[in-house]
Formats: sequence, C-alpha cells, structure tokens
Amino acid sequence: MNGLLHHRRVLTIDDSLTVRNFLERLLSRWGAEVEQAASGEEGLSKLHQPGVQYDLILLDLVLPDINGLTVLQRLRKHDDQSAVVILTGEGGVKSAIAAVRDGADGYIEKQALVQGDDYAEFFYGLEQAMEHRAGIVTKKQLDSIKADFYAMITHDLRSPMGTIIMGLDMVLNDEKEPLTPHQRHILMLVNEAAEKTMRLINDYLDYAKIDAGYLKLNRHPIDLREVARDSVRLARVQADAKQQTLHVELPDEPVVANADPERMKQVLDNLLSNAIKYTPEGGEIWLRLYQKGFEAVFEVEDNGIGIPPELLPTIFAKYHRVPGQSRRGIHGTGLGLLIVKEIVKEHGGEVDVHSEGVPGKGTKFVMRIPL
Ligand code: ADP
Repeated sequence: MNGLLHHRRVLTIDDSLTVRNFLERLLSRWGAEVEQAASGEEGLSKLHQPGVQYDLILLDLVLPDINGLTVLQRLRKHDDQSAVVILTGEGGVKSAIAAVRDGADGYIEKQALVQGDDYAEFFYGLEQAMEHRAGIVTKKQLDSIKADFYAMITHDLRSPMGTIIMGLDMVLNDEKEPLTPHQRHILMLVNEAAEKTMRLINDYLDYAKIDAGYLKLNRHPIDLREVARDSVRLARVQADAKQQTLHVELPDEPVVANADPERMKQVLDNLLSNAIKYTPEGGEIWLRLYQKGFEAVFEVEDNGIGIPPELLPTIFAKYHRVPGQSRRGIHGTGLGLLIVKEIVKEHGGEVDVHSEGVPGKGTKFVMRIPL
C-alpha cells in the first residue's frame, strides 16, 4: 500500500455493523483514520461538518433511509475532492456503474472482500479510485490556473501593450514635432519589439482558445480571392523590405466558400509571413488560388531555405521550430502553424507541406478547403 492510507481520513457508510467494523480494522492497520456512519443521513451529516474533509468514502448503495446514489449526488454538490468507492452487494454492479457516472471513482464487491483473505485486489481498487480522484482534482486546479493565466495575459499584458504600440505610433508619426534620426532609430527598435510581443500574446491567446475548444468560426459565403488580395497587401510590404518578388496567381472567376474571412486571412498571413521570413533577400514567393473539383486550393510556395524532410511531420506541432544555423535570428513563437492547421481543420479542410530541405528549392504549403 506504500503508505497510501497513512493518516488518510476514511468514512464508511454502510448499514451493516459487521462490514463497517471489518473495514475499520483492515484500513486502520494501514494507518487510516476511519469513521463510521450507519445510514445515508448520518453519513451526510458527518460530511457536512465544517472543516471536515475525507480523503476516501466507502459507500454502500443500499441504505436503510436514503439511497446511496442520492447520498453520492448530494455529497458531490459541495465535495469534489474525496474519492468515493461504492461497496456493492451481489448483483449490484449495474447500479455501481451508474454511480461511477454520477461521480464515484470506483466500486468494490463486498462479497469478495469479506470472504477472501487476500486483500490485494481491494487495496488496488482503492488506490485506483484515489488516483482517479487526484487526477480530477489536479485537472480542475490546472484549468483554473489556465483561466487565471488567460485573463492575466488578456488584461494585464495585451491592454498595456496596445497602449504602448499606440503611443509609439503617435510619436513616430508626429509631423509637428519630428524626432531626431537617433531618437527615431531607437523608437523603431522599441516598436519592433512591442509588435513582436503583441504577436506572441495574440498567438498564445488563439492557441489557448483552440486548446479549450472555443475557436468559433464566423462563416458565410465569401470569395476567397478577396481574402487573398487582403492578405497580399501586408505581405507585399514585408516582401518589398527584403527585395523579394511576390507572385499572386488568382483565377478570373470567384472561388466561393463558406468560410470565416478573418480566420482565413490569418492563415494566409501566417503562411505568407513564414515564406518571407524563411526566404533570403531577393527570393521569390508564390501565392496561388484555384478550384479543383469541390475544393478551393491555396498554395504558398517560396524558394527559401526549405525544411529537412524528416522534420516535416513535426512542424505543425506546438512550439516546434526547426533548429539550424540558417534560422538563427529569425523570430517566431512556433505556434503559427499549429493555429493554421486548427483553423483549416475547423473549416473541414487540410493543410500539407512539401519540401526537399534544399536551400533555394524552398517550401510549399498546400491548403484545401471544401467549397
Ligand atoms: P514560427 O513562429 O517559429 O515561425 P510556425 O509554427 O509558423 O512558427 O512555424 C514552425 C516552424 O516551421 C518555423 O519555426 C520554421 O522553422 C518552419 N517553417 C515554417 N514555414 C517555413 C517556410 N516557409 N520555410 C522554411 N521553414 C518554415
């Protein structure tokens, strides 16, 4: 038992004195502090005592006053910390399984317990139940930490960062009081750092939403060429800054899909900015959109540094960044492609990547979404 029961508070709720005494003797031997209740109401009154917390409750389903299931439901209303193990009589397995659905952590057949003298299975059952409950408690705590962290990032980080970016923008573009070249140079660096931090924050918040299953699409029929044109506007500025050529190949006819325009733009922004980031100065980037059968296909291709083929399956994973000399100095969060993949998946589509990992031969991302 590895001290599992040492100093643990245990409550047995069973109408049979024999069973209660038997359990008390057995569990006390392993250091547990055992209390007894002979009925459902007595059990609940013990459970409701202020400041009292039991680690383990052994609960009979057939009680003289109220049904064991009712006891379980009532205790779970205010206690999700105690592990509850149902003690079943013969033929009671069905109701024990129902109890597990209502918040019990396991069940043990009484018959086998009282008859046998090998209690390994019994203790194993208790251990499993206590671990099950510990897992639920830990998950709840983690969820609450995550929620606090999310709120902290949104309010305590993103809001002031927005103010910083706005202030910098005002100072940098103030025509009445122009900055000296030196001041401008420094503030441009500060601005770059602030923008980078903001991207990180937004990526994290998007990821947290996806992780919690809260990514909601605002879908309606849109011409995907419009999304492409929108995204190209920003990409063109980024590409020009690196003397890269951005080729845009769109069809003459509209490509209409039921999609979320903002999220689709986010996907293209991400793929295009990666293509620009991981392609040296003077390189070339292609954005293509075409219709194939009942699908719209986007391709974002570059002739940049490429991705080693053995790493291709991992680049959509969380925080994954391809290690290597040629990537030093290129900043990113490693969340971008994960978000891309999830957004495309929510649209019922998929995204693939192709690269030979040869610098100059580049990388090609192909995204398909149903029309
Ligand atoms: P990051 O924020 O690091 O760019 P992403 O999730 O967008 O994160 O991309 C994951 C990794 O995939 C990048 O760090 C980079 O190593 C690699 N990658 C993505 N796009 C390209 C590309 N077009 N060419 C080469 N490598 C790429």
